[in-house]
Amino acid sequence: MKPKGIVYLVGAGPGDAGLLTRRGAELLGRAEVVVYDALVNPELLSLAPSAAELIFGGKRAEDRSCNTQEDINRLLLGQAREGKVVVRLKGGDPYIFGRGGEEAEALAEAGVPFEVVPGVTSAIAVPAYAGIPLTHRDYGSCFTVITGHRDPAKEHSPIDWSAVARTPGAKVILMGTKRLAEITGALIAGGLPPETPAAIVRRGTTENQQTVAGPLGSLAALAAQAGLTAPAVVVVGEIVKLRAKLNWFEQRPLFGQRVVVTRSRGQAGKLSEHLRERGAEVIEVPVIKQVEPANKGPLGDALLSLHEYDWLVFTSVNGVNAFFDYFFRMFQDLRDLGGVRLAAVGPATAARLRELHLMVDAIPAEALGRNVAKAMLEHGSIENLCVCLLRAEQASPELVQVLEERGAIVDDIPVYRTVADTDDPRGVAAGLVAAGADWLTFTSGSTVENFHARFNLAEFLKKFPAVRTASIGPETSKALATLQLEPSVEAREHTIPGLVKAIEKAMG
Ligand code: SAH
Repeated sequence: MKPKGIVYLVGAGPGDAGLLTRRGAELLGRAEVVVYDALVNPELLSLAPSAAELIFGGKRAEDRSCNTQEDINRLLLGQAREGKVVVRLKGGDPYIFGRGGEEAEALAEAGVPFEVVPGVTSAIAVPAYAGIPLTHRDYGSCFTVITGHRDPAKEHSPIDWSAVARTPGAKVILMGTKRLAEITGALIAGGLPPETPAAIVRRGTTENQQTVAGPLGSLAALAAQAGLTAPAVVVVGEIVKLRAKLNWFEQRPLFGQRVVVTRSRGQAGKLSEHLRERGAEVIEVPVIKQVEPANKGPLGDALLSLHEYDWLVFTSVNGVNAFFDYFFRMFQDLRDLGGVRLAAVGPATAARLRELHLMVDAIPAEALGRNVAKAMLEHGSIENLCVCLLRAEQASPELVQVLEERGAIVDDIPVYRTVADTDDPRGVAAGLVAAGADWLTFTSGSTVENFHARFNLAEFLKKFPAVRTASIGPETSKALATLQLEPSVEAREHTIPGLVKAIEKAMG
């Protein structure tokens, strides 16, 4: 018999995916059904098994036709009674204003087992990301969290705003954006001075965090001026002053910058991570993907005669990955590589080889194909030596020429092929064309060429003149030059961290 179903009420945290608890991640990892709210970061849904059913269980105040609380309760009961493991994923903490208490009651009354996984509530996390600690020995030893959902002007308002105004410490108001003027008015009427420091923070802990700060008396007008809408947290109290000193999140160097990553899906991760770490909003629009070479014959031959080569030369991380994929399909033992010397075009390629516990003999000071030959020559003449280039199918003939001029016998072996990626499953590319960005990053000539083929780079830059371009190095800039374009910045060090550093420097 199938075991009884269970519902886990899990707090998803306030927005930043990293603020989900380990217990929450573990339960998502084995959920059969996930019922999630509007405020949940969609990234978290990818933690559920691909077979899990994902059901939107949000309610929208302005759209009564959406799920009612009764619908959601019925859904949770129904799924659990079918014997399923249900994760009810709610923004922030499930028991803070999310009607999680009512959902738990319905489950308890129906005799359906449930467990609660607390989450990081926006009431605390959002002020923290806006530089506002809620307690501090000099400012207050308590704070109050209030819902601003009900109209304070109504006679039966459940909140006694003048009592709130008299309570010491910070006041944190959730769901108060729509009635901000009434709420701030009620607090002032209750005795809080209009000049009390206050702030409203929209979409806190995310890359789109937006904060408006000002005296309580003007906060509503300032927020309206900035066009600030829900979801937002309002903080009122002397402690808001600390924001001037403690605003760490919005002060990260790339905060507020929309940066496009054009590398292939498999490779985007590292660059995206570096950019996000510095506060950027990352838009991943992969314009290329790596596939098998059209003809794998030469690679098969090379693998069988590896012992005949004196040098293996890698000109990209992709080349290393693709080559060793094939290598380990054929051999069990790394020693089958033989006593060959290894050359890498630059630090990233060399680092990938070192991850495989392979020492690189030659790396040029500047990551340019032709410089590889120079670096190899430092180990002595290459005359009559057998050199195997393991690289992309469409690579430039220059390196072969340089090596052959020095007398080397060169095999140029394609280990992968770069082709255009034009998929847009989540509409990200369409969004880019509509809204533009602050930066386009290019990490190879082929990202330039394929971005151009897909979006017409010159036209794109004309349509969005404020967009800046960042190139990882001279080879990539050359591809831009072919289009009569010059990068706004070129990385000094031709690596992903070098590229991010160049953007950061341009931002001052
Ligand atoms: N259970 C949730 C709150 C649900 S009520 C929690 O613990 O955080 C919804 C309200 O939460 C919103 O109207 C807004 O006031 C606040 N909120 C949630 N996420 C937010 C975010 N990322 N930024 C600002 N406010 C947020």
